[in-house]
Amino acid sequence: MVLIKSLKRNIYYITVLFVIAVMTLGLFMNNPRMGEFGVGYISHILLVFILAVCLLLYPKNRTYVFRVMITIVAASYFYTIFFLYPATWSSFIFLCFIPAIPILFFDSKLFYFSLILNSVSIILVFCYIVIFDQGHQYPYIEQDVIGNVINFFGSQAIIYFIFHLTNGRIKKQKVYYEQIQQSGRLKVTGQLAAAVAHEIRNPLTVVRGFMQLFEQDSSFSAERKGQIALVIDELDAAEEVISQFLSVAKPEKAVKAEIEDVKLVLQSVKELLQSYGLLHDNWIELNVIDDCKIIINTIEFKQLLINIIKNAIEASKTGDVVLISVKREKDNVVIKVIDQGIGMSEAEVESLGTPFYSLKSKGTGLGMMICFNIVEKYKGAISFETSKGHGTTVSISFPSI
Ligand code: ADP
Ligand code: MG
Repeated sequence: MVLIKSLKRNIYYITVLFVIAVMTLGLFMNNPRMGEFGVGYISHILLVFILAVCLLLYPKNRTYVFRVMITIVAASYFYTIFFLYPATWSSFIFLCFIPAIPILFFDSKLFYFSLILNSVSIILVFCYIVIFDQGHQYPYIEQDVIGNVINFFGSQAIIYFIFHLTNGRIKKQKVYYEQIQQSGRLKVTGQLAAAVAHEIRNPLTVVRGFMQLFEQDSSFSAERKGQIALVIDELDAAEEVISQFLSVAKPEKAVKAEIEDVKLVLQSVKELLQSYGLLHDNWIELNVIDDCKIIINTIEFKQLLINIIKNAIEASKTGDVVLISVKREKDNVVIKVIDQGIGMSEAEVESLGTPFYSLKSKGTGLGMMICFNIVEKYKGAISFETSKGHGTTVSISFPSI
């Protein structure tokens, strides 16, 4: 990382030194104003000097003021050259490039500022040439003013387009980077949670063992034994939740597909998510026909269902019901997860499955990507029926056996 940074810095300095060398060459090589030492030539020298100092100091002073200064000094430099050396028609090209300077700083405010300033300045320059100069010094502009104006604004449009694309990409990358960091944190938290769950399991097993002993002890009354049985049941429920959580949090490496009864898997996923739904008073309702079997890996199937149902719960309003229905259609088993929640627009549906796409403040935007992968892996299909504000129906179908 340090190496890359110093390499980048070196490239910056080499480029800047090259630019300074070119500017200095311009001062001395074949310069018609060199002997004069009038105001024009002195301002040229001064601007080269100020610009060189600014460029050399910039890496150590990456402030907004400095960027504004570099942009203004560079613009003044190009305009000065344009006026000092009218015979060098190519300096007009530099005027067109002025708004490109803030692009190098990735500063949009400064970009719009220089774009507007440059357009106003060029209009004034053209007016000067047409009204006062009348083609004496700038015949190549005066002879076709309209063409030059069109070319100038065309070049500004191209620069704007480049800026727009680069800016969009940079913004996207920034979001992407932040989300990668967030998902890294979540991964660690997930691993810790899995470790904690694993540790809780051991004391539970010990407590359950003792409870079982007490249950068999004849010195306890029948009423006590009933209560002990209840304790054992509750411990089993806790153990079940932990097992489920661990199976999703730490999937085994070798993933093998088996014949799965959709109803049984859905029932266990429902139990796992019921308490999550109850946080906002949401109920999960199952409407499943018997004997729907598909070939899939249990853990991945649960992962798929948990993600879809969790999204449905999170989209729901307080008190809403999430309905899950399973039907057989031709050779497929179709699972529908229906919510009455916030729904999605067409653009939102299109973005589903894009890694890190999430509209939730604490979302990871990974859930749907995982789902799409699992559905594809087992030759299934997934579709969405939704509109903003009117809920969502997610249909997942797999070949039945
Ligand atoms: P996350 O849940 O972490 O945000 P997902 O990949 O699971 O990531 O979902 C991506 C986005 O899709 C969600 O942020 C949400 O905006 C939208 N979404 C998914 N399912 C639903 C749904 N049932 N209703 C409304 N929006 C949904
Ligand atoms: Mg989700």
